[in-house]
Amino acid sequence: AEQLLIRSEKLSVAGQLAAGIAHEIRNPLTAIKGFLQLMQPEKMNVDQYFNIIFSELNRIELILSELLMLAKPQEISYRTSNIVALVKDVATLIETEANLSNVMIEQNYEESALLVNCDENQLKQVFINLLKNAIDAMPKGGTVTLSARVVQQMIEITVQDEGEGMEAEVLNRIGEPFLTTKEKGTGLGLMITYKIIDNHRGSVKIESEVGKGTKFIVSLPVE
Ligand code: ADP
Repeated sequence: AEQLLIRSEKLSVAGQLAAGIAHEIRNPLTAIKGFLQLMQPEKMNVDQYFNIIFSELNRIELILSELLMLAKPQEISYRTSNIVALVKDVATLIETEANLSNVMIEQNYEESALLVNCDENQLKQVFINLLKNAIDAMPKGGTVTLSARVVQQMIEITVQDEGEGMEAEVLNRIGEPFLTTKEKGTGLGLMITYKIIDNHRGSVKIESEVGKGTKFIVSLPVE
């Protein structure tokens, strides 16, 4: 329990920092991008440089919008929601993307309605992050299984993939900002996931085996 507490303190400091940095950088960034677009060269062979600068600016923008998600307490509104319906909605949302990568989404819920007190948009973000990671972990396709059940006053939602799994060095550092093994990753998704679940008085457990797959178990208090 002590370890969990230390982690949540670390995250709230990081959240404040993230908001400050993101706000300071986003406005000048948007201006630079706008002017660069106006200056877009037509026939000169600087196109290549233009494209690199433009895609790097897009990447900075993506990182900043993810960081900003860490710092919006004023927009959070908690209410009683059916987490099974919420997870199903997210699965529908991600299905097209999953199919493009030959990933099937299987769903297996103990009951059709399980209630938690939550901010729906934040929890959707959590399951979007977990499902996208599961898809990324299976470049050759496979199945990701979503399930939900009640265990001792907690609702457990599981996202299980048959992907590449995680090396111990990655597993031990999960939740740290900018930890990524992906070429185009930001390494912020799971940090945000931990922060949101922490705000909901829940916890995240991970079981992972290299070459076999990964299971994320999100526990939230029953409403
Ligand atoms: P990103 O997806 O941008 O890299 P995340 O914070 O979502 O950032 O994930 C951090 C890292 O954790 C990933 O780069 C990957 O190495 C590892 N990871 C997360 N989910 C999985 C998974 N389901 N299977 C294997 N590795 C994973």
